[in-house]
Amino acid sequence: MGAAGPAGWQDVLNLIKAERRAGPPAPVDTAGAEVLADPAASERDKRFHVLIALFLSRWVPAATPGGRAAARGRLTDPCCSQTKDPVTAQAVRNLQALPGGLTPENLALNVSEAAIDAAIAKVGFHATKAKRMKALAQMCHEKHGGDIPPDAAQLMELPGIGPKMAFIAMNVAWGKAAGVGVDTHVHRLCNRLGWVDTKNPEKTRLAVEQWLPIEEWIDFNPTLVGFAQLRCRPIGPTCDGCPVRHRCPVGRGEKPPNPPKQPKKERNAAKEVPAKAAKKRGKAAAEGKGGVKAVKAAKAGPPSFDAFRFSGGGGRPPEKKKAKQ
Ligand code: SF4
Repeated sequence: MGAAGPAGWQDVLNLIKAERRAGPPAPVDTAGAEVLADPAASERDKRFHVLIALFLSRWVPAATPGGRAAARGRLTDPCCSQTKDPVTAQAVRNLQALPGGLTPENLALNVSEAAIDAAIAKVGFHATKAKRMKALAQMCHEKHGGDIPPDAAQLMELPGIGPKMAFIAMNVAWGKAAGVGVDTHVHRLCNRLGWVDTKNPEKTRLAVEQWLPIEEWIDFNPTLVGFAQLRCRPIGPTCDGCPVRHRCPVGRGEKPPNPPKQPKKERNAAKEVPAKAAKKRGKAAAEGKGGVKAVKAAKAGPPSFDAFRFSGGGGRPPEKKKAKQ
């Protein structure tokens, strides 16, 4: 932190908080990762439950343990915030019901990968997740004394755990403001509000952490996620009546709610492998089609990777693509 931050961010955040306090609960308020932690489990095992819940669903937590959502008494609905959340919730319950329970030690030493897979069978990519969960449990058991690591960098060393989950786990499981948890909702809202101009959640996190006071970090995610779920949805945000419309470039009609999509024709053209395009041009030239331009292009050979990249092609260099085929 250190930068001043976008003009008026504090007012906007306060208005968002006020709407969240006054309004109905959002899915994030009733669906935190900690909701699925077995209340009878030890603190150490509850942390593992939170991590596994995040790992399975990549959901957004309701709040820190004992925090805002708990105070509002809304931690009653054991589901999570995205479309397949009931499936994820059931998977966590199935894991908790395994003989020996949901602990790193039990998953590492006693429960087979097949049994984990069976418990999470309805979750997408369950086979891959079962494999990674087994490895994750083994690392927690062997390297971290049967607990989840207490810092984000070490959390990210666990299989299947990226920055978003690591920082949310730090906030929720450890109650530590190690970073701002930025998921797709927070990323979208921060860009719509003009607070950042970024292409992905990780870049948004780094930008926001430059100016957001650390005291705001833990609650920033659930506050914005709930607002985004109820009002500032991905498609069709309810700008009418939005308390921050006067401060929002999208609400004022100065920019579209979502980044404009590249026309399909341009996307396809950009994807075209340059070597293939050159071959096509060569063929056209050989057939006497395409005029002087085509003949010159054919003589020049395939364009360089830089030419490809800067023309908007992006992606892997053509040589590598060819080698992969
Ligand atoms: S004005 Fe519209 S786009 Fe801006 S924050 Fe409110 S709902 Fe979202």
